Amino acid sequence: MPELPEVEFARRSLVRWFDGRRLVRAESDPTVRTFRADEASVPHAVAAKKFDRLTGTLERAERRGKYLMLAFSDGNGVVAHLGMTGKFVKRPAGQAVNWSRARFVLDTTEVIHFSDPRMFGRIEPMAARALRENAAIVALGRDPLVDGLTTAQLREAVGPSKQDLKVALMDQGRITGLGNIHAAEALFRAKLHPGRLPGSLSDAEWEALKVGIDASLAFALELQQGHDDIEYVEEPNAKNPFLIYGHEGEPCRVCTSTVARFDQGGRSTFFCPACQVAPRGERKPAPKKVGAKKSPATKKKPTKQAAHPSTKPSKKRS
Ligand SMILES: [Zn+2]
Repeated sequence: MPELPEVEFARRSLVRWFDGRRLVRAESDPTVRTFRADEASVPHAVAAKKFDRLTGTLERAERRGKYLMLAFSDGNGVVAHLGMTGKFVKRPAGQAVNWSRARFVLDTTEVIHFSDPRMFGRIEPMAARALRENAAIVALGRDPLVDGLTTAQLREAVGPSKQDLKVALMDQGRITGLGNIHAAEALFRAKLHPGRLPGSLSDAEWEALKVGIDASLAFALELQQGHDDIEYVEEPNAKNPFLIYGHEGEPCRVCTSTVARFDQGGRSTFFCPACQVAPRGERKPAPKKVGAKKSPATKKKPTKQAAHPSTKPSKKRS
């Protein structure tokens, strides 16, 4: 599932693909729910039609958290969210792409498709000048890559939360970009139990968490170097490159204890009970028995992904 690194990959790909090229035509499938507009009363087909009017060169491609903001030279733009399965792919004209919901036809022989099997992704056309002021964008907290994130800023943003540490890290209004995968990865790297209370962390633990976040994001960005297409870990036969996410029942790569999983905020949390010990007196959810395993993909709750550009992010958005 796309989180900060994967959306950043999409941004960098779009910048590269549009470089020196011109958008001659945008095409949409008006029957799909990809084109939800800023008001529920606006039919998909109307938003899709607006998308079809895009032309010109790509003037700006920005990312904030898991949102992309694309501004074209004709003054129009889109806010895009990849949802659970959305991705941009570039293919030669005439080549069919599965689940292609929208297309940018370039003045070469290439087409950039927005492919999204499950259609939790969204594209919202709007004036280019309105992109950054969009309510969903404004509501986002600090983006570790765009804004930078110091240990003090992390503590200030996440420390006051009364939610479990992992849930608080996924709260897009506090810091933006971490989802279920990278929150778990950062906590594992920092040796912090996901059920810790943010208010209980020591200075050293905040520092370790900041380093863990940076390392987790950098690792994922590095993985994508040199690739044109991205593969999400939940896709069939995809490799799992992560340290802890999705590794329930396997040996921890640090201490060889068995990686455990429990449900937290409606999502699967993976952790090592030996490396990530909850201090006495704090919440410590009992890990589920290995064998009751569900795949990460089937554990996802679609309702948590209702990340519409124009709806206010909820505390539980991931
Ligand atoms: Zn361990």
